[in-house]
Parts: sequence; C-alpha cells; structure tokens
Amino acid sequence: MKIQELDKTYIAGTYGRFPVTLVSGKGSRVQDENGKEYTDLGSGIAVTSFGIADDAWIKAVTQQLQTLQHTSNLYYTEPCAHLAQMLCEKSGMKKVFFGNSGAEANECAIKVARKYAAEKKGSENNVIITLKNSFHGRTLTTLAATGQDHYHELFQPLTPGFAHAEPNDLSDMERLLDTLPVAGILLECIQGEGGVKVMDDAYLQGVEKLARERDVLLMIDEVQTGNGRTGDFYAYMHAGLHPDVVSTAKGLGGGLPIGACLIGEKAQNVLGPGDHGSTFGGNPAVCAGAVSIVSRVTDELLEQVRTKGEMILETLKTAPGVREVTGRGLMIGILPEKKSAGEVVKTCMGHGVLCLTAKDRVRLLPALNIPEDLLKEALQVLVKALA
Ligand SMILES: *Cc1c(COP(=O)(O)O)cnc(C)c1O
Repeated sequence: MKIQELDKTYIAGTYGRFPVTLVSGKGSRVQDENGKEYTDLGSGIAVTSFGIADDAWIKAVTQQLQTLQHTSNLYYTEPCAHLAQMLCEKSGMKKVFFGNSGAEANECAIKVARKYAAEKKGSENNVIITLKNSFHGRTLTTLAATGQDHYHELFQPLTPGFAHAEPNDLSDMERLLDTLPVAGILLECIQGEGGVKVMDDAYLQGVEKLARERDVLLMIDEVQTGNGRTGDFYAYMHAGLHPDVVSTAKGLGGGLPIGACLIGEKAQNVLGPGDHGSTFGGNPAVCAGAVSIVSRVTDELLEQVRTKGEMILETLKTAPGVREVTGRGLMIGILPEKKSAGEVVKTCMGHGVLCLTAKDRVRLLPALNIPEDLLKEALQVLVKALA
C-alpha cells in the first residue's frame, strides 16, 4: 500500500493531514516523496527550532544515544541536570520538572498551583482561571483548561475546577478572582492555536498584580511561544512579568518530545517526593539535544528573530488581500481578506512553501535560524497567494 493509504487505514482519524508525505530535509528546506522541495515556515508547529537535521543537535543527541539512552528517574544524569540549570538561569525560575509534552508541562503546573493553594489556604481553593480562546493541551485536564467549547463537547465530564476569563479584559479577570476560590491563573501571552492573538503588556501586568494581591499563582503557558520563538527567551519577558510557574515544550527539544514545568521561588518546594513523576521525563538523549538548542538561543539570535519578525510584519501589513497581521518575532498570524486561510496555505504548498493555519489565520512559525533570503523568497509566494 502507498504510505497515505496505509496511514488512512491504520492511523486513528484524529488528524486532517495535508496530502503530502515528507521524507527528508535540511535546515528550512524539506522534501516530499516525489522529490518536490518546500521552504518550511511551520517547523513542525514551532518544534524544530534550528531547522531539520540540524548538525549540532544531531551530534549532541547521537553522542548521548551512544553513551546512555535512558536510565529512569531513579538515577542522576548529566544532561537533565545541566538543562534544568540552563533554564533556571535564563528565566530566574528555581526548579524544573521534565515531562514529555506541552500538555504534561501544564498538568504539572496545575498540580503545583492546587497543592500550593491547598497547603496555604485550604483545598477548596482549587479553581484555575484560564482565558477564553486559549489552548493548553488534549488531556482531560488540559482540555478543561482550554477555553474553547468545541474541544469539550463529547468528552464530558472533564476535570472540574476551571473558569475562563475574557482575554485582554482585566475587569473580567478581577470579577472571577473575587467570586471564585482560585488557586492559580494559567495563560498564554500570545494565544497560538487561538489565532496568534497577542495579549497587551498592560493587561498581563495587571493580571500579575491581581494575582500577587491574592497570593494566587501566575502560570504562563510558553509551550508555543517559548525558547526564543517570539524574540524574547520567553514571551512573558516582553511585559517584564515574574511568573510563579512557566510551562514550555514545543521548541525546547528541537524535534524530540520534551515538556518542562519551571517553578519560581514562591512555589519551589511545593512538589515533594512522590507528588509527581514521569518514566520518560528528563530523558538524557532528549535533554542533551535540548541543551544544544538552549545554548544557541543567545541574545544575538533573539535579536535576529526580532528583526526577521519585523521584516515579516512590514512585508505583510502592506500586502494586498491582508486584513490583519498579528504576532511577534517568528510567530505570526495573518487574517486574509479575500480567501480562507486554508486556501492560502494550499496555494503556498503548490508553490513550494509550507505554512500553517490557526483558526481563521495563516500562521507562520519558521525556524529561528531561517536564512533571510529564503524567508524573503517564501514571503513573496505567500504575498501572491494572499492577493
Ligand atoms: C501545543 C500546545 C500545547 C499542547 O502541547 P502538546 O505537546 O501537544 O501536549 C499546550 N499549550 C500551548 C500554548 C500549545 O501551543
């Protein structure tokens, strides 16, 4: 059987895949089974931070694979400890828990907030406030956190104890904080799956103040925005926030599964022996790859991410057929005026450029090191497709 038939026969029908089978790539170029080449503006949904088959990452991962590929969390390993140190030094957080996905990173964050509140104020203070139009994952708990009803409908009952505030509306957040027994607030600074919707810095600062006043943990979901994607190491840094918990995943591992829950000073001792765990979490080969990624997300690279992002915004804002462009750094959403986002993505694909959608937007999440000439070339294809 052909690959696509085989997949349709045997893979659970959860994905609406594009009719393309990808076989190989290098950097921001990728090839399908027919030898057709594409410029990749999606990075496997913000995952392959330094592109496909990145040499330094391959070297780090394979060296570790050939030395010790797994130990379980009953033993210490160097890459796991080293990565945690790097993440804490970059963020000012104090402790790290490693899992294997964004949803798991958020599950850990939610557990931290609930235990913190239970110990300090009593276990009835268990509500987590998230935002409408958010996305936090697919487990039954992170689905409950996700503020989009259409994900919930046929999977009831979801984990109780979640409430959803209007994004960018401080008074709605204050209303929920004043009426519910709240343990924590979990939000994305830029809603990715929700259509690249940017929260105002003033709103985020206001939420932080409300959380502080009430001793409610502020948790930032950096699963998509994190690890350099938006031009800051974490997107919350743009607003100068000091969150209590940060979850991250996608771009951290450069293509291997990893999730991390970073815990700040206030809650650093909340998780104790037996409170949480993961068989694969902190895997040494995955962490060695992540160390290679994080060590290269330097101030200089972040500057380049910001410059490229501004170039994309400038190019698209004045392009015909564009109603709105949102986002920051290399996380961009485009609302087409005349066509659906799906149509635009399909046209681009025909012309050798891979883009994503998010709700009614075309979404761009290119590799952080995409060469400028390649990016400009791909943007011209996108501009034509939008017109
Ligand atoms: C993708 C995503 C998740 C879920 O990550 P998985 O690795 O698919 O579990 C959670 N939060 C945000 C903001 C995401 O973009």
